[in-house]
Amino acid sequence: MAESRSQSQNKVEGGKLYIVGIGPGSVEQITIKARDAIINADYVIGNSTYLDQIESLLGTQEVIRSHMGKEVDRARKAVELAKSSTVVIISGGDTNIYGMAGIVLEVAEHESLDVVIEVLPGVTAILAGASILGAPVVTDFAVISLSDLLTPWDVIEKRLNLAAKADFVMALYNPKSRKRQSNFLKAIEIIRQYKANSVPVGLVKNALRGEDEERIVTTLGKVMEYEDWIDMSTTILVGNIDSRIWNSKKKDFIITPRGYHKKYDY
Ligand code: SAH
Repeated sequence: MAESRSQSQNKVEGGKLYIVGIGPGSVEQITIKARDAIINADYVIGNSTYLDQIESLLGTQEVIRSHMGKEVDRARKAVELAKSSTVVIISGGDTNIYGMAGIVLEVAEHESLDVVIEVLPGVTAILAGASILGAPVVTDFAVISLSDLLTPWDVIEKRLNLAAKADFVMALYNPKSRKRQSNFLKAIEIIRQYKANSVPVGLVKNALRGEDEERIVTTLGKVMEYEDWIDMSTTILVGNIDSRIWNSKKKDFIITPRGYHKKYDY
């Protein structure tokens, strides 16, 4: 009943475009609104990896599979189809965090697309990773992608320097690809200029993707020991000066105190 009602709401004359973050992995991490948009769409467009993640939601929709590196084509296709149909274009995690929201809206603007457009958020990798590591974030943080495909490396270096200097908790996305093996090492060398070797570092691979999920709790001084383990499905969280590791009986957690201990006894 609820589904058919939202279906009729979706059938806006002239189409509708949803730009949807599907979260980090398993389907239960998707928001209800995003799930409903996907279920009720005429077309669902995305790269194969992310479409596989939402396979259980795909049935009657026309599914258009694309590949990494084809983002502009995908955005154009979505905008074209949205002129007369209800279209969902998906990103992993959140669509604003190195996702499709930007390029899709740029193409829509260029085409003067005149349909309702909605951007639906998703759980991004830093938050998925943080939930697995305990409480490594909690305070101010900076998210930096180490991919220099669209951002020049000197800009990335500048941001790494300033974020580390300001002692933000940092999340590093896109740490490695086949073409970029050394960016991670360079990033860690920059961060070590400002942060102590004892600062906790959490490595999370395939966060919230079921059995593929892996985590490592280490320190800035030791993180390079895990370099070979790090891949494109890994996010690295670097703590700040107050962060610490709690070796609980069950597992190691990272805690970044927000400052309650300065005001309260507990
Ligand atoms: N839009 C995505 C990020 C895309 S960039 C988001 O909001 O999460 C791709 C990078 O995101 C990967 O290289 C990795 O660093 C990170 N990432 C995405 N999903 C992840 C997951 N489930 N576990 C760990 N890292 C992830």
